[in-house]
Amino acid sequence: MAQQHITSRADDYAQWYQDVIAGGQLAEAAGVVKGCMVIRPHGYAIWEKMQADLDRRFKETGHENAAFPLLIPMSFITKEAEHVEGFAPELAVVTQAGGKELEEPYAIRPTSETIIGHFFSKWIDSHRDLPLLINQWANVMRWELRTRLFLRTSEFLWQEGHTAHASHAEAQEEVARMLDVYRDFAHEVMAMPVIRGVKTANERFAGAVETRCIEAYMQDGKALQAGTSHDLGQNFGKAFDVTFQNAEGQREHVWQTSWGVSTRLVGALIMTHSDDEGLVLPPKLAPIHVVIVPIYRKDEEKAEVLEAAHRIASELRDDGLAVKVDDRDAVKPGAKYYEWERKGVPVRIELGPRDIADNAVMIKRRLAEIDERGKPIKEKLSMDGLGVALGKVLDELQSGLFTAAQQRLADNTVHVDSWDDFVDVFKDGGSKFVYAHWDGTQETELAIKNETKATIRCLPYAEDGPAAEAGTCIKTGKPSAQRVLFAKNY
Ligand code: AMP
Repeated sequence: MAQQHITSRADDYAQWYQDVIAGGQLAEAAGVVKGCMVIRPHGYAIWEKMQADLDRRFKETGHENAAFPLLIPMSFITKEAEHVEGFAPELAVVTQAGGKELEEPYAIRPTSETIIGHFFSKWIDSHRDLPLLINQWANVMRWELRTRLFLRTSEFLWQEGHTAHASHAEAQEEVARMLDVYRDFAHEVMAMPVIRGVKTANERFAGAVETRCIEAYMQDGKALQAGTSHDLGQNFGKAFDVTFQNAEGQREHVWQTSWGVSTRLVGALIMTHSDDEGLVLPPKLAPIHVVIVPIYRKDEEKAEVLEAAHRIASELRDDGLAVKVDDRDAVKPGAKYYEWERKGVPVRIELGPRDIADNAVMIKRRLAEIDERGKPIKEKLSMDGLGVALGKVLDELQSGLFTAAQQRLADNTVHVDSWDDFVDVFKDGGSKFVYAHWDGTQETELAIKNETKATIRCLPYAEDGPAAEAGTCIKTGKPSAQRVLFAKNY
């Protein structure tokens, strides 16, 4: 197998990202279908782990999964004026089927508010039918012009939550609750710190009255919108005539929300933790926690080492660890090490006859410390209680990644009070997380974007951003109520 060279982050960050994905065998551009990608088994296994954890959180907060059609009648998309205006340029449309021109074309879903609104109008009649809390795991298509594996593709996998409520206050609570679910998942599982906030009108979802988001810091200083939660007000309720009879017997339109995260999160994971050796995975998302590489010279050693390797694997599995024994005969140990490092497996066990005699194993962490000779430090662990010891190692790796990512975010977050300093941060392709004052107008937001390519990522939650303080806009000098988060973004 050809060894995949990984460009360093310092040399070429964009190429590094591609190399990590290729080296980890995560995905590749479909090529034959514009803007689409093939998610390879190791990449898909990471997405499945994300799905499983998120799905549990959605169910714990009262949501049920359902599935709606891939194709949406064009007349549905056009019912909500802002929605169609926002999504029209990104639609792929089916005009023929079964060898005939269709009477009404179908859009391939870019998101499902419209078709779900249609069914909500059938399912909801009384306040007793509310809240209605639905989630869909699906693929969607948005004809994106500039694509990048995982981060922005034409077809992507995601979940979309869609809920209907009897009051605006309840819908707003749901929007905040699900944003917190995303934040908790990012912190506890992805080991990726995020800033919660509210989008400006300019960056809002087409058809929403308010969009909230979590924004994550990537290692090149750029921001990534990692998840969104929308307050749809009564916009879709009115467009699709979704009404209910309230307790007083009057008919009212429902209040709706929608929220989603996508396979973009796999890209976020890569750009948060990986290094110049390739993929680094937080153990909670690692499809394989521990790989055992048997080491033997002679044939008579082979049987003994393989038997021990499989026995240890089976014991570790009983302790809840995902273990792989790499017993391929035709591949040398060194090549195996290289491959599993690039796949981000958190811990490797090298197992030879001497270890077996010793009742111990040598482990190497994916992020091992380096000794004075520049060699990664290996650790010796007793085979007795190995599962518990490795569980501790994995916990340390998980929390170490979160601490390092938090530190990186803190080191690269600045408060800026003058236009010159602001321009300075973003010149020559640079970016950081910048908290600066803004006068609240779309005009100024766009002027700043045109001159620096920095955009307002969000108006941060007080708990996640700087303390509330009034000031003056860095661009216009006009009054500002709070600092907002600026960065270049993916
Ligand atoms: P939206 O419906 O636009 O709020 O998007 C919901 C989620 O999907 C957000 O987390 C976005 O970051 C993500 N997303 C939007 N467009 C794409 C895309 N082209 N590829 C991958 N993820 C996307």
